[in-house]
Amino acid sequence: MTESVTLPETDWPELSPGWVWLCGAGPGDPGLLTLHALNALRQADVVVYDALVEDRILDWAPQAEHIYAGKRGGKPSAKQRDISLRLVDLAKAGKRVLRLKGGDPFVFGRGGEEAQTLVQHGVPLRIIPGISAGIGGLAYAGIPVTHRDVNQSVTFVTGHDQSGQTPSSLNWRAISEGSQVIVIYMGMKHAGPITSALLDAGRDADEPCAVVCSATTRDQQVLETTLGAMAKDIEDSGLEPPAILCVGRSVLMRQALDWQAMIDGQPPRDLDPLGRGRPAESA
Ligand code: SAH
Repeated sequence: MTESVTLPETDWPELSPGWVWLCGAGPGDPGLLTLHALNALRQADVVVYDALVEDRILDWAPQAEHIYAGKRGGKPSAKQRDISLRLVDLAKAGKRVLRLKGGDPFVFGRGGEEAQTLVQHGVPLRIIPGISAGIGGLAYAGIPVTHRDVNQSVTFVTGHDQSGQTPSSLNWRAISEGSQVIVIYMGMKHAGPITSALLDAGRDADEPCAVVCSATTRDQQVLETTLGAMAKDIEDSGLEPPAILCVGRSVLMRQALDWQAMIDGQPPRDLDPLGRGRPAESA
């Protein structure tokens, strides 16, 4: 299909031998790739890709060697330093290297570390941002990451630190008090301690929450729950990562905006889920 997609006329950059392009692939749906990513896929000699990059996207670089460098929580996986040095070696060997990472390379993706290693070894690079799961994934679930009636700020946190535990460095009280909406990456396995920390910090057990699994892919599943019930509901559901957890009243908007359900012919559950009693666009 992509061969038939003509990139619009503009000065597309050339992926030259010896360069690495560090590129976000978006959360899953290949349609969420950027045009820069497509331009890169067409030129690469080698694509070094992560676990969360869909096969269908790799099919768009049939000329390239595909190297898996996945890291999935809890499973044996390539060491970060080895991945970074592999990129250096490939570039020094004169390859056109596309490093393809899920979502956005600089959002909880260690893209900064990889880029730094490249720079330290004198390898020229380009960064291509991508749609992050915490924004695009929620949009596919019909949840606006900001909504004027709900939140003027949003906090993105990781539920997972380098040792695989809930990050102890996070000030859950400050996050709780400072942000109406909290979007948690890598939080599924630690939903228990995370929800306890938020409840201890004063968030309401009835607060709406959503768990969006494999967002934007054909396997997308969404669990609507509350902060008090989330950990148990995740356990009972048997849902698997990758998942984004969203805590906050913006989750209610899904009752009006679950556009995928509407495509499937289901009517919106509630046209005014925040109970504003007025048209959405009025001040
Ligand atoms: N750089 C990525 C995040 C990498 S960390 C980005 O910007 O999206 C990996 C975590 O991202 C997963 O544990 C999960 O929390 C989230 N994630 C990535 N892709 C996802 C998807 N399709 N659906 C749900 N969560 C996803």
